[in-house]
Amino acid sequence: MASPHQIPLPDIGSLSLDHDSTGAYVAAEVAADVVDDDELQEDILGAPDELEASDLESSEAESDSDEDEDEDDEEEEEEELSWISWFCSLRGNEFFCEIDEEYIIDDFNMTGLSSIVPYYDYAMDMILDVETPLEESLTDIQQEMVESAAEMLYGLIHARYIVTTRGMAAMLEKYQNVDFGRCHRVHCQGQPVLPVGQSDVPRHTTVNIFCPRCRDVFFPKSQRQGNIDGSYFGTTFPHLFLLTHPSLVPSPPAQVYVPRIFGYKINAASEYYLGKREKDNDRNGHRRGRRKQLQDKA
Ligand SMILES: [Zn+2]
Repeated sequence: MASPHQIPLPDIGSLSLDHDSTGAYVAAEVAADVVDDDELQEDILGAPDELEASDLESSEAESDSDEDEDEDDEEEEEEELSWISWFCSLRGNEFFCEIDEEYIIDDFNMTGLSSIVPYYDYAMDMILDVETPLEESLTDIQQEMVESAAEMLYGLIHARYIVTTRGMAAMLEKYQNVDFGRCHRVHCQGQPVLPVGQSDVPRHTTVNIFCPRCRDVFFPKSQRQGNIDGSYFGTTFPHLFLLTHPSLVPSPPAQVYVPRIFGYKINAASEYYLGKREKDNDRNGHRRGRRKQLQDKA
């Protein structure tokens, strides 16, 4: 399994695969996720994996039985769906908001992107659903590369858009719907989180979630969400968002977890805590002498 820190090579087949063969399944899974978020208490109490698995099984069965009836409706829906709406509805892309086309067609907002994104013009046409005769002359492989480039271009525009007033409003709606998930720390009591990148440069880090209560960052719960490039959200967004909406800033956690053995707190001078300090010191490269002394004593 790939480390969540590494950005995987562009999966040029993923877009078409999700679109064509798993459309119904994707919708069912998204529905299951929504239920999952609401059932927060069960989530906190444990066995989230089991819960998800059973949800998936039941929704899979449902979608199987309804498949024949829904097939015609779905085809019609897919035809009407814009590329942006389709992309944002893909499983794993729940963190993205839909960018206003007006924002995209303003060249000023796109400054510098053409030098970063390959097949820029084709990718831009794809995002805006512009059909050009040139597009038909592309080979299947080129077509896939354009799809991959469109994904990257959308992501980089997204990072710029969500720090504008309109983009922030779109993300506020998603935050209120808990589309980004909740903090897993028990004492954060299910605090909704916000997406954040640890780099503004593409292909450096994957997206993380930031908890406004404990102010820490975590990996997203879903593997698909966890594979998204962090630069599509950027390092600034959640913090500017909270500064802009101070009423949404939660109070810090009221409790701190205290480890206990048979009901007793653990001595602060014991190895239980010293071991941790030693590790910290080691990481910082400080006070190695003291560590040596402790080892000699032992
Ligand atoms: Zn938290």
